[in-house]
Amino acid sequence: MRYRKLGDTGLMVSEVSFGTIPVLQGSVPVLPDYYNLSEEQALAVMEHAFRLGCNLYDTAIVPEYGDAEPKLGKFASGGRREKIIISDKARFFDGNEMYMAVLESCENLGTCPDLYFVHQADWDHEEEIFRKGGALDALGQLKAEGRIRFAGLASHYYDILLRGAGDARVDVLQGSGNLLERGMLDRIREEPAFRRKGLLINKVYAAGILPAFFAPELLIKSVLSYPISSALIGIGSAEQADEAFGQEMGTEIPLPDFEQVLSVLEKEFLPIPCCRCQRCRCPYGTEIHTAFRQYNYFFLGKDHWSLRKLDMGIRESAGRCRKCADMPCLTDCPSRIRIPDEIQKIAELVESRKPQHFAPS
Ligand code: SF4
Ligand code: SF4
Repeated sequence: MRYRKLGDTGLMVSEVSFGTIPVLQGSVPVLPDYYNLSEEQALAVMEHAFRLGCNLYDTAIVPEYGDAEPKLGKFASGGRREKIIISDKARFFDGNEMYMAVLESCENLGTCPDLYFVHQADWDHEEEIFRKGGALDALGQLKAEGRIRFAGLASHYYDILLRGAGDARVDVLQGSGNLLERGMLDRIREEPAFRRKGLLINKVYAAGILPAFFAPELLIKSVLSYPISSALIGIGSAEQADEAFGQEMGTEIPLPDFEQVLSVLEKEFLPIPCCRCQRCRCPYGTEIHTAFRQYNYFFLGKDHWSLRKLDMGIRESAGRCRKCADMPCLTDCPSRIRIPDEIQKIAELVESRKPQHFAPS
């Protein structure tokens, strides 16, 4: 295992780090899967990863990641606390709520986390997070009180991460990206504002989809080829830990370009060639890159989940596109994707597949 600087925090983190979603027991609202690890099994997997060199464990407050947070606390209390970095998060945007969430997390963990992130920061809550008295101010207060060591901002949106990169209250950022959805990573590489912040990247396996097409070694090394601190991988078994942490990290392997990645997926279906760079903006509210992701994921094994998400607005998006005269989204897409046509295509897919997917059982 190799280690990298976590921005200006002074911490060194393993290049690959442990995402704790798969060690929870039960299901969590945001995920379609059911997980089934007992406490004993979860602790054994975390220990296995530690022995392979992992020193960063990322979790979220109960119930966001089910019971993963107390399981991580239990692991830390077994003689590992001083040797690992605990990263935690909560989806609260108001300062008071965030403050209380961190206290609750400390209780669940039985220790104070090293990093604490505002989780899933989105456009609807951006101002609340950054305003005076918002969640970032609360993390600053908790830092001053010694309850956490570093404050973080986690988001799937490039513009919000960029704003965090320019904010002195933020020490660490957490974004997403992978071999296919590399657009945000490409932009981060070009933007000097990110250089001083620690940067963790999740969704390296794209919700477990990509290992069916590409070797884990390639998926991990492709993300590590960017200027990031650590690639977060969800780990639920010793085998997965071996795959993620047992790589020969020093050895170079050729990384396929975007077209080569698409050509592999084209053996299954015709993907929308969107790298999720997020340069397109729809002023009428359609989250284009997310709709395109759901479409691609639909054909890559997440059909039910994707359809459910798309059903929550794609019809309205298609209706807006039909009336859109200026189509401003088209001007910024480097891939020249015919965005409104693709939106129509997705809406038609949802309509045609809904009866079989949502039929009462
Ligand atoms: S064409 Fe559709 S997606 Fe593009 S800006 Fe207009 S409404 Fe938004
Ligand atoms: S549609 Fe084009 S501009 Fe929008 S995220 Fe995808 S590649 Fe980027």
